[in-house]
Formats: sequence, structure tokens, C-alpha cells
Amino acid sequence: MSTLRTVRGMRDLLGKEAQTFTSVIAKAQATALLFGFQEVFTPHVESLDLLSAKSGDEIRQRMFIFEDLGGRKVALRPEFTASIARLATSALRTEPKPLKLFSAGTVYRYDEPQRGRYREFWQSNFELIGTDKPEADTEILLITNKLMQTINLQGYVFKIGHVGIIKGILSQDGVDEKTQNAILQRMDKKEYDLALKLVESEKCKNTLQRLIDIKGENWRDTIEQVNALVAEYEKAKAAAENLTEILNLVTASTDISLIVEPAFARGLEYYTGVIFEVYIPQLEIALGGGGRYDRLIEAFGGEPTPAVGCAHGIDRIAIALQTQNASDLSDTAKKFVVIPITESVKVDALKLTQSLRNHGYFAEFELMGRKMGKSLEDADKRGLDYAVIVGERELREGNVVIKDLKKREQTTLSISELFEQIKKMACE
Ligand code: AMP
Repeated sequence: MSTLRTVRGMRDLLGKEAQTFTSVIAKAQATALLFGFQEVFTPHVESLDLLSAKSGDEIRQRMFIFEDLGGRKVALRPEFTASIARLATSALRTEPKPLKLFSAGTVYRYDEPQRGRYREFWQSNFELIGTDKPEADTEILLITNKLMQTINLQGYVFKIGHVGIIKGILSQDGVDEKTQNAILQRMDKKEYDLALKLVESEKCKNTLQRLIDIKGENWRDTIEQVNALVAEYEKAKAAAENLTEILNLVTASTDISLIVEPAFARGLEYYTGVIFEVYIPQLEIALGGGGRYDRLIEAFGGEPTPAVGCAHGIDRIAIALQTQNASDLSDTAKKFVVIPITESVKVDALKLTQSLRNHGYFAEFELMGRKMGKSLEDADKRGLDYAVIVGERELREGNVVIKDLKKREQTTLSISELFEQIKKMACE
């Protein structure tokens, strides 16, 4: 029955997968704290005007748009940046700069669903507003690097570019802004031939082609080639210098694996400076990305305010962890189930369960009224570690039975000894 299915491109997250999401989000929150970012919650629904103001055609065309019952045109947020820009120009307008804001939650885009591409997906998002200094761009790269490290992803690589290099070449050769954006979109999709077709001047076409051809593992060599190519393009040269400074800062302050791709472009139109994405070798889809957007806040009617930010795709990070067999990020604390053998000991067993929880242990109580054998079977199946069995005779003597479900061993203990024993077991 179609009513029992989720809407196309949207998913339920259950069991281990839900735990992985919670754990990744918690790690993103911890990263935000480390870097002094404040968490903010903004609505899932925003006015269509706000969301379409500057998102760029790419995203604008993929928004979930509807009219609310009051006739307002609204849409589900396709990203966090527009909402954060709204805050920066309203409630937080007079706050001291830089603003450092973190959010996590779902965003919505009418993408073609496939593995790693959904219509509802989760992002953790960091925005640093009010500074154009390369140390701010560095900070955003360091945040992403720290998050990937904390999550324990192996072999991830940053792909880094700078919109200013491509735009600097195009604008010096008289290509207008709209065509520049169209060219960047083609380049984002690696449709280089189509991109070059939009360029009229042969000289410009040639420079762009040479930029596309620059590749290399060593970022310093790559940057040198770019510098040589754009020596006569004032703005592109300044952009390459800016990129060099950011890379010097990042590589001096952390271990990071990166490649520079000077012709790399990202779909979102609002980028003005450094842009990046992060990948693992096993997956072709980006796990996160970001960049500098110095004119977006202004476009919302605020003061000219430079900004840089990034977003990480939690759904894809979960796939990456699974690919690397590291999906189980959940805590390793031992798990207990308490089983009363008869009705008469139910209250005592429940009290004991509470006592375990009060001591900070994961403890479940047999809730189906099952016989001990069935209850043990179920606990075993669900991967619990120990069963505390409460029987009438044992209880009368002040004892309970504790069964190790993995080793299939059991011991009778006094209730006071139980906590000593559990303390030991919980650390094993
Ligand atoms: P963006 O907001 O486009 O810069 O994307 C940031 C990150 O969100 C990407 O690097 C992906 O990891 C993730 N992402 C983007 N689109 C989707 C999607 N349709 N489904 C799942 N994750 C996505």
C-alpha cells in the first residue's frame, strides 16, 4: 500500500543506522564546541523569497515549494546558509564579529534518489561570518578535518580550489557574471567542453583549457603552475595568492591530505573564494564541502559582510563508515537485562533495574512477561551482554543470578556483591 511507504527519496533511520547518525551529530556538536561555534536551531520551513534569493539556480530548481494555508509561498530549506544569512542580517546583526554558528538537521532537495543521494538528508553546518582573513577559511578546513578525524574516517582527501581564479580569468576577458555562473555550473559537472563553448575569446578559452589541464598530487607544484598561468590576470593572481596563503596555514597547523584542483567548481552560485570538498577513496560522492561567500549577506540587505562555511552530509558519512566497516560508533558500554522469574518478585526486579540505571548502566526490564528461557533467547539475539535473573528462592537469601550471555556462564551473588561485580564487568 503506497500510504505505508515513505515519500520517494526520504527514509526512516532505524537501529544501528540511527545510532550512527546520533553519534556523528554528537561529534559535530563536540567539534563546534572545540572551535567556539554556537549551536542555533532555525525552522525547516522558510519563506520562498528568502530561500530563492541567492541559492543559485541549481538549488532553486530543486526546492520543495508550497503555499501554506495563509497563502504564503514557503519552501523546505535546501541548505542552512540562507537561514544563517537571515539571522546575521536580523537577530544577530549587532552581535560582535565574527559570528560562528553551527547547526545540524535535515535539509530537502528534489535530487534524483540513489545511494548517497536523498531528497531529505542530514547535514552538519558551520558558518563563520564577518571576516575575510585567510585564517577564517583555514578554520573551516580545520573543522572539517577535525570532524573527519574524530569520526575516524580513513584515507579521506580534501579537493580544494578557488572560484576567484576561474572568475578572475573570465571577468578580465569581459565575460559577464551570468555567463560566468553558467560556465561554473558546467565545470562543476565536469562538462568542460560545454563550459568552454560559452567562452567567446580564443585567448580566454585557451587559458581556461590550460587551467583545466593542471593536475598534480603535490599542491605546491600545482599552485606554482597556476601562478605562472595567471601571471597577467590581476584578479586571478590575487585569488591564487589567497589560496596559497590558506593552504600554507592549514598544512602548517595540521596533518591533512589534500589536492589542489584549480578548475574545480561547486554548484552553489554564491561562492566567491576558496572552495573544497572531502572524499574517501572508496566512494565517488563528496562527504562534505564548503567555501567562501563574501557577497551573500549583502544580498539579503545587510552590510557587506564576508563569510565562509561548510556542510557535511551525515547520510554519506554513515555510508562511508559502513564502507570502511566502522559503522558501529555507538558506545561500548555493557548492556543488562533484568528478568523476574515469577510475578511475586516483579517489584524487586524492577527496583533492581532502576538501581542499575541509577548507577549509570544500560538496563532493560523484561516487558513481555516471558518465561526466562524465551527472555534470555531474546536478549542474546539483540546482543545484550548480561542477564540479571531474579528468583524467589535466591531473593529470599538476598541473592540474584547473573548470567554472561556471551560466555554462557552464570554465578549467584548477593545483591551488594552484584554492583561490585558489575563494575568489574562493565570495564572488561
Ligand atoms: P552542499 O550543501 O551542496 O554544499 O552539500 C554539502 C554536503 O551535503 C555534500 O558534500 C554531501 O555530503 C551532502 N549532500 C548534498 N546533497 C545530498 C543529497 N541529495 N543526499 C545526501 N547528501 C547530500
